[in-house]
Amino acid sequence: MSDDCLFCKIVSGDVPAEVVAENEHTVAFRDISPQAASHVLVVPREHHPDVASLAAARPEVAAALLVDVAKVARAEGSSSFRLVFNTGPDAGQTVFHCHGHVLSGEPLGWPPR
Ligand code: 5GP
Ligand code: ZN
Repeated sequence: MSDDCLFCKIVSGDVPAEVVAENEHTVAFRDISPQAASHVLVVPREHHPDVASLAAARPEVAAALLVDVAKVARAEGSSSFRLVFNTGPDAGQTVFHCHGHVLSGEPLGWPPR
């Protein structure tokens, strides 16, 4: 838990979010500013600043997160989805608690905007 981290506060329930799934390792909740018909964020319960540091420190949690991403995508009703981990400010990361964006529910353009 990092005291000034928004997603730690969502994990702990101190900040409300529309949670769609949770388990021992991860919490999945709807993005407040959806960029596709379905836009869910999947985060580890533990605080790690980004996916690179999560994978280095806790590879088993990183693997669990990927399994949960696939479950979330299925539950959202689409066999097609895009998983995005913005990593670092130059890549557009704004919240420094690892999160995978799971985008689905409509045809997604490539390359991304
Ligand atoms: P990033 O830019 O770091 O890859 O993604 C951060 C995401 O968090 C953004 O898509 C943004 O819309 C979302 N977000 C920011 N604040 C909140 C919030 O308070 N609640 C929820 N559910 N999502 C948030
Ligand atoms: Zn955090």
